[in-house]
Formats: sequence, structure tokens, C-alpha cells
Amino acid sequence: MVAGRGGGDVIKCPAMPQRIADHVDIDAVIAGRSRLSPEQAMWLYQHASLHDLGEWASAVTRRIHGDSVRTYVIDRNINYSNVCSASCTFCAFYRKLGEEGSYVLSTAELHQKIKELSDIGGTQILLQGGMHPELPLEWYEAMLRSMKAAFPHVHLHAFSPPEFTEFVAVCDVPGFPKTAPGNGDEIPREVWLAKLEVIMKRLMAAGLASLPGGGGEIFPAHVRRRIGVGKATGRQWLDVMRTAHKLGMLTSSTMMFGHIEGIADRVMHMTMIRDAQDEAIRANLPGRYVSFIAWPFQPDNTPLGRLRQHDPDGSEPFPGDALAKMVFDGKVDPEDKAACSAAVPNAGKRLRLAGSTEYLRIQAISRLFLDNIKSMGSSWVTMGPKIGQLALFFGANDMGSVMMEENVVSAAGTTYCLSEATICRLIRDSGFTPAQRDNAYNILKMYAAEGPDMHVDDWSAFRPAQSAFKGGGASASAEPEDASTVVSLPVVD
Ligand code: SF4
Repeated sequence: MVAGRGGGDVIKCPAMPQRIADHVDIDAVIAGRSRLSPEQAMWLYQHASLHDLGEWASAVTRRIHGDSVRTYVIDRNINYSNVCSASCTFCAFYRKLGEEGSYVLSTAELHQKIKELSDIGGTQILLQGGMHPELPLEWYEAMLRSMKAAFPHVHLHAFSPPEFTEFVAVCDVPGFPKTAPGNGDEIPREVWLAKLEVIMKRLMAAGLASLPGGGGEIFPAHVRRRIGVGKATGRQWLDVMRTAHKLGMLTSSTMMFGHIEGIADRVMHMTMIRDAQDEAIRANLPGRYVSFIAWPFQPDNTPLGRLRQHDPDGSEPFPGDALAKMVFDGKVDPEDKAACSAAVPNAGKRLRLAGSTEYLRIQAISRLFLDNIKSMGSSWVTMGPKIGQLALFFGANDMGSVMMEENVVSAAGTTYCLSEATICRLIRDSGFTPAQRDNAYNILKMYAAEGPDMHVDDWSAFRPAQSAFKGGGASASAEPEDASTVVSLPVVD
């Protein structure tokens, strides 16, 4: 394979498979007796065929999850506000405070959305906003309390790490300092961590049950400072999750790839998650990462999407790969902006989008690499139902959240809407039994012989539809006409 070709296109060298044993004891990895080193993950990425990666990742999935059942969850992605103090260059969702199209949902609107979810048998909401610079902590507590009072059976999966970093920065908490929006890192780390814990405990007392892994993107600083402008650093993201684990909550983890990052950046990102999970296990923390989902960057309507595209057929290597490898090899400090710019001046200025094979490749590598995280989600919302289905053969065991609403990724141009029946059919057509799960991956309903897909006479009404989002903020995202049948997945879970 030629590393760094556009979209990660892979040229398989027929002689390569014989060399795999020289680099990786893949049988031991599949059996769970050995783990991939970051170097081995890089080697596999560069040399293994897509087909082999799928076979190996599937074998790991079968070892962990068995041969028969693949899961999904019914929840609803509710974006309580699109107001955000950050300015991520990949984001088409946010609005500044007071800007046209900005909103904060009312309690009545929030409750109506949860009622619609509850009416179709949904079990949880994924509640996220932007990093709102002004809402007080009491507002969030009241929101959670009112939801829990009205819908005690609904699991509140809420607030990604960047939101927590803003809570720490701007919220008044007795005994702790606060800062201007986005400036939480001015607070000494120990104080920052203590304030974070107090805030998290208060939100848990109000009903918060688990944390989504949104805002992960790519952790290494040389990439993150160019895409996540004003949002949580990789270190802060991991600190928020560690605190959640310490307090007994389950969390998910994510990666958004296929933009300016190099392949080594993806491996470093996954290494940081794996190390954090190792630490949680070693420390016997009551909470853990329960899942990982990776998806390719969706460029429409975003500043990042306007970067010049890397020419995969040109003679120039992708600059993101060059810088990533230098950081990976310890030759450049990713925190040293000037050194990074001097080392590879074009890094961060070229875009390399990821296509389907690249997505599947990363899906498989993540399953092989993240040996301490149980569940791997398929990102059909960005890749479409058929590639999402194929992901079940590249390490994914879960079709993610069958949702009624998705605003963030649809704002960047790509989401697919599928019904619960269609999700079940995609799983069943893959040779598995579909099963509805809860947030902790407990099976709620098993559809071996029965199921939402077994009573559909006319599948034409269930054809996958792309989001009808027209831009203009989350409030402009189109709701499905029939919320009982048309659903869409999150990618920020
Ligand atoms: S991705 Fe999240 S943190 Fe970044 S600008 Fe968008 S809403 Fe804000």
C-alpha cells in the first residue's frame, strides 16, 4: 500500500500477507493473548489488505460478542442549544450568542421531543449543546430534573467533554474560580479537576446517567488546535472522562478522521483512549469506556471543508502524514506550534477526505487495536446504510443509535435517516439477529423470529433518505414526517 494516498486507497501487494507474521502475531491478537503496539497498528494500516483486516476484526468481534446477535439502541439526539463559544473549523452547527439562528430549547420543547421518543419505545436521549458561554449550572440541573421527573424511565446520556470544560470555565460554583468562556485552562489543573468533579456530581444528582464521547475528533495538539478552535484539549477531554469513570458513569469514545490529520495521528488518538481505559481498569474505577465509534469528517458548509484537497496522484506526500510521523517518532513536540509549522509548513493546509474503504479500514484497525473497549459502533449515518452494514464485517457489533433526530452532522451535509425496521433488516440480512439494547449494552428485545422488519410489506416507504437539513442551525433541521418510522443516527454519541 502507498500510505497517504487520497481517501486511503489501498494498493495491495500480493506478497505482503506472507510478511505479516514477521511483524504481528495476528492469531494472538485475534485470540486476545496479545495486543497491537502503535507501531504494529501503523504497519497493518500500511500493509494489510482491506479483506484481511475485515477478517481479523470480524474474528475479534465474534470472540467478544458471539456469532449471532448485533445490536442497536433507540434514542433521540436532542441539541438543547447551538450556541457555542468555540469555533471548530469542521462544524457547521454552532452559532454565536445572539447570532441569527441561535437557539436554546424551552422546557416544553425538550419534553415534547422526549415524549415522542418515549411513544416509539425509545430508552434514552443523547443530550448535547454547544459550549454555551452564559447558561448557569442551575439551568442544566433544572433541565435534567424536569426531564427525570416527567420521564423517569428515560436514560439521560448527556454533555460531551467540551461542554464540561465550559461548565468549569464559566459556571459559578461556591469555592471555585471561574474564567471567561473558553479560558478554563487558566484555572490550575488540580482546582480545575476539583471543580469539574463538583459539577459532575451535581448534574448526576439531577439525573445525568452517562457521558457521550462527542468532541473527541483527533487528540494530538498539532491537529486539534487547527480544527477544534476554542474547545477542550485532548488532555481535558480525557480528564472529563476519567472523572466520569471515577464517579461510576459509563462513557463512549469517538474519533473523527479524514481531514488534515496523518495516519499516525489516528493511531496516537486511539492509543490515548486505550491508555486511559487501561488506567481506569488498573485503578478499578467503577466507570469505563464502553464503546468507540469513528467516522469520516463531513466537509459541507464548514471552513475546514474549503481547504485545498490533497492530490493523491501527485508527487507530493500528504503533509499531515509527514508531521504526524515526526510527532509519532518523538521528533517534534505537538504542543510547540512554531516547531510544528517549521517542520512541515503545509501540514494542516491540505485536506484528505476519507472514503468508504478508508472508513472500513479504520473500523477494522480500531477493533483490533482497542482491545479493552467492548463495543464498536458502525457509522452508517455518515457512510450510508450499505457501508454501515458492511461495517458489521469490519469489527462493528453495534448499529448505534436509531434516533429520531440528528442536527450536528446533518449541518455538515451528510446524514442518512433509517427506520428501526430498516436497521433490523440490515442486521438480519447480514446473518445476525437484531436486538435492541440499552445504554449499558444490555439486551432489551431480541428479534430472532419477530421484529419491526418482519411486518413490512412495502419497503419502498422505508428507503433510506438523506437528511433534509437546509442549513441555518439546528432549529432548521427537518424532522422526519413520521417520527414513528423514520429515524437517524448520531455520530457524536
Ligand atoms: S463542534 Fe461542538 S464545540 Fe465545536 S463549534 Fe461545533 S458545537 Fe461548538
